[in-house]
Amino acid sequence: MLVFAHVGFALALFVAFLFVTKKPIGRFDIRLLFIGAMLPDIIDKPLNMAGLWGGRGVAHTLVFLALLFVVTVYVHRPILSFAAGTHILLDEMYLYPKLALWPAFGWDIYSPPYNAAFYVEILMNNVFVQRTELLGMMVVGAFAVYYRLYEPTRLKKALRNGVVMERNVSDN
Ligand SMILES: [Zn+2]
Repeated sequence: MLVFAHVGFALALFVAFLFVTKKPIGRFDIRLLFIGAMLPDIIDKPLNMAGLWGGRGVAHTLVFLALLFVVTVYVHRPILSFAAGTHILLDEMYLYPKLALWPAFGWDIYSPPYNAAFYVEILMNNVFVQRTELLGMMVVGAFAVYYRLYEPTRLKKALRNGVVMERNVSDN
């Protein structure tokens, strides 16, 4: 999957989480959600370009996710590992148990060939991928409209401090 599918999926699950727990959105750093949703790729793609494994590597494993979870809970930012978990889920890593459960099957990285060229290819030709990207864009768009992030003060606050204000709270 590509950027918007990942970000939109993380965002949709996050909003569902807020809805169920009734927690205020302002308590979470929304920037960490966006970063976390792409974190496994932010780590593994450059390593792929550097010649290490095939586009999915250590940052797509449950060991990595578990360590990330411990660290982010410790620093009170679990939203980052939550988002990274949604990335691994959407990547369907359960289809690649040898990599997902690394190093249970040995130290070798069994990496599926998800390199940059592969993504260009599926984005151009795979209708399912195009639709999930579009869906992701729509989720991000709906989120931005609902929380009025088209207003400069609100957007600035979200970008600068990670704080999204409730939609009915005035800026002043
Ligand atoms: Zn990935």
